[in-house]
Amino acid sequence: MLDVRKIRLILELREAGIINSNVLSSIEKIPREKFIPEMYRNQAYENIALPIGDNQTISQPYIVAKMTELLEVNSNHKVLEIGTGSGYQCAILSKLVRRIYTTERIKNLHDKSIKTFEKLKLSNIVTRYQDGNEGWEEQIPFDRIIFTAATKNLSDKIFSHIEDNGIIVCPIIKKDKQILTKYIKKNGNITYEEHDKVLFVPNLEGIN
Ligand code: SAH
Repeated sequence: MLDVRKIRLILELREAGIINSNVLSSIEKIPREKFIPEMYRNQAYENIALPIGDNQTISQPYIVAKMTELLEVNSNHKVLEIGTGSGYQCAILSKLVRRIYTTERIKNLHDKSIKTFEKLKLSNIVTRYQDGNEGWEEQIPFDRIIFTAATKNLSDKIFSHIEDNGIIVCPIIKKDKQILTKYIKKNGNITYEEHDKVLFVPNLEGIN
């Protein structure tokens, strides 16, 4: 039953414009139900965001796929994520990159995600309980950075975490909207492209 729903979801993502076959195959491999509280598991393969506790949500599969596609990752990449949440986006990326470092500011979610990664034997993920806006200085440079909480603007500190040709994908708050924004560093300069209108929980300071 789950498989039929999964196939339907993959087709839906394709129809919605996700064309990267590596991204789609990672979504096929990672069991989304493992990242979701028991009571919502029957909806795991619907293209919707779902509650994960602590007032947070696991993103809609389309948005996970879109952000992963925009990051243009490869198997040599070292990636930083701000906002582990359930760990689902991180798990999708872990199949496509060399190593992913992920940060979460809510202890409960951080602890739960570690258990899920262990259960699924995803061994190239490094987690940290911290305010992700502080970055991860010891691990600089990163090839890619992904923010999964809506952010007003990115600091110079964060931009200093990526190499030339590095990419950052982040939902940026603009007036009353959130826009999925892709930043590209080239010859030391940052340019950006704006993509889908999105709805993420806010990026908050400090730990909880
Ligand atoms: N990538 C997640 C999406 C979770 S929602 C998933 O696939 O499930 C966003 C998460 O970002 C929440 O868990 C929230 O607590 C976390 N967050 C918000 N601000 C943060 C910050 N400054 N540092 C680290 N995590 C943050």
